[in-house]
Amino acid sequence: MRVRVLGSAAGGGSPQWNCACPPCRDARRTGRNRTQDTVAVSGDGTAWFLLNAGPDIRSQILATPELAPGPGLRDTPLRGVLLTTAELDHTIGLLSLREAVRLTVHATPAVSAALQTAFPLRSMLAQYTDLDWREMPERLELDGGLIVDRLTVGAKRPRYATGTPGEGWVSALRLSDRRTGSSFVYATCLPVWTDAFDAFVDGAAEVLLDGTFATDDELTVMTGRPGSAAGMGHLPIVDSRPHAARHPGTRFRYGHLNNTNAMAGDDVVSDGTDIF
Ligand SMILES: [Zn+2]
Repeated sequence: MRVRVLGSAAGGGSPQWNCACPPCRDARRTGRNRTQDTVAVSGDGTAWFLLNAGPDIRSQILATPELAPGPGLRDTPLRGVLLTTAELDHTIGLLSLREAVRLTVHATPAVSAALQTAFPLRSMLAQYTDLDWREMPERLELDGGLIVDRLTVGAKRPRYATGTPGEGWVSALRLSDRRTGSSFVYATCLPVWTDAFDAFVDGAAEVLLDGTFATDDELTVMTGRPGSAAGMGHLPIVDSRPHAARHPGTRFRYGHLNNTNAMAGDDVVSDGTDIF
């Protein structure tokens, strides 16, 4: 299995274009750049899938030699996209993939409904490419030998889809290599660490966790703006670390960092980090 972090920031990236908070100023000064959360996965190194498609998808693909097209004129190793939320910073990259000859997207019914009615991305995209939009089941097998299990971890709808009915708004995915049995869990939007999530990560080799905020009050401390991590659907790092520590055989790393989060270190991924 191959897992590469294409983008390691939350919505807006880091630094964010209109933000002069201390971490954004520091990022401009040092040249530290995080693009928005998207991960590429492959079971065999040949057939690749994206976990979400953020606004930076074009530059992320260009920066990833494994995703280069060929040998045919419009051949691409990219076989599809799996959406874990309907948030704009996880979905509008699909519009930048409209040149695809064919595009396969897996999403829950709730996410599909939001992208069909509240924001008609799906019907727009279907005008440009042969769109194969599929309902994501609890278990799915992908080309290349990856098995994907899905767990609903949150009920937060995107702001544009307030009032849209349904469940399955925020998912975690567990990808397992059929050959080796090794597993990777992707959970960059995790509002709370439930017993179900604890069982979901149990025995995984690697987990990419929600690193949006280091502490619950980080946004207010850094920018003076109101808003808690919990209120925005993100379990802060200080609160997930004790849970992670109960799984000593699993490596936990943090992605999806908000621009206010200046954390660094071995357990924080960067753009281009190979998790496997
Ligand atoms: Zn900032």
